[in-house]
Amino acid sequence: MKILLATQKPFAVAAVAGIRQIVEAAGHDLVVFEKYASQSDLVAAVADADAMIIRSDKVTAEVLDAAKRLRIVVRAGAGYDNVDLPAATAHGVVVENTPGQNSNAVAELALAMMIFMARNQFTPATGSEIQGKTLGIQAFGHVGRLVGAKAAALGMKVRAIDPFLPAEKIVGGGAEPAASLEELYATSDYVSIHIPATPETIGSIGYDLITKMPKGATLVNTARKEVIDEAGLEKALEDRPDLKYIADVAPDNLAVLKEKFGLRVFATPKKMGAQSAEANLNAGLAAARQIVAFFADGCTRFQVNK
Ligand code: NAD
Repeated sequence: MKILLATQKPFAVAAVAGIRQIVEAAGHDLVVFEKYASQSDLVAAVADADAMIIRSDKVTAEVLDAAKRLRIVVRAGAGYDNVDLPAATAHGVVVENTPGQNSNAVAELALAMMIFMARNQFTPATGSEIQGKTLGIQAFGHVGRLVGAKAAALGMKVRAIDPFLPAEKIVGGGAEPAASLEELYATSDYVSIHIPATPETIGSIGYDLITKMPKGATLVNTARKEVIDEAGLEKALEDRPDLKYIADVAPDNLAVLKEKFGLRVFATPKKMGAQSAEANLNAGLAAARQIVAFFADGCTRFQVNK
């Protein structure tokens, strides 16, 4: 089988070597297609691919139409909002992610972001400590749970909410269940967002929710920029000069936010939550193993378009 490693933003060299080893040991061919210039180059490259490993690369209906032999796409990472799932399903293509493989990198970044904002973006002004503060975790999945455990170790009080988890699982993960999303925001000095970008969550965090946060609170978003209602965020920061926002990755209105709110806002210019050597390697190798298992015995354990 021809397995296309299509990564506009390439994996680390060691990860590519590990992926190649797994793929070739199973008797498949790996074609490395990195740093491609345009979406039309991707459309051309998929013509004879049986499988694809991608990162944030966009697998659109056009890509799927062009990929006549394609049977499986594995997104090396957690979020898969860059894949057109209905189109993949219509083409009979299995889509998988690699849950948990890059969570630690993202969790460490979320913690770092809290401290960075608590210390005024490392400027000399007097800051504050995160110890003793309350952290509210919105969605207690792979990343949310790790953020909670690390924050607890740093002396924070950890609360969480997840509509798809019973309260016992939240307690079992070391956090106190919040009664509602509104209550979580109202009681948290820091809220860390870990929801996926879905039709239900896109634009769901806006003015009403953000302004529920207590005085001096910080909103930390390492999920997706799309889950924020940016106009609502801007108005909240305007009406509440005590609130702060930090994100991986930049909102579309970042220039306006920076100009209006200075050190109260920070955003990474490029998504970097999963950009650690370890996460790169873990997610890449997991993707390769999942593809090998799919062709060996039809394993679709991590399929997200069932
Ligand atoms: P996960 O699937 O393990 O956890 C997601 C959690 O969200 C689950 O517990 C689920 O119950 C909950 N959830 C699902 N739908 C929801 C909804 N409509 N409302 C509220 N909660 C909902 O995923 P994860 O590995 O913890 O990652 C979380 C998100 O973080 C990903 O979807 C991705 O968008 C983002 N992420 C970002 C980076 C980065 O580089 N910044 C890297 C990895 C993941």
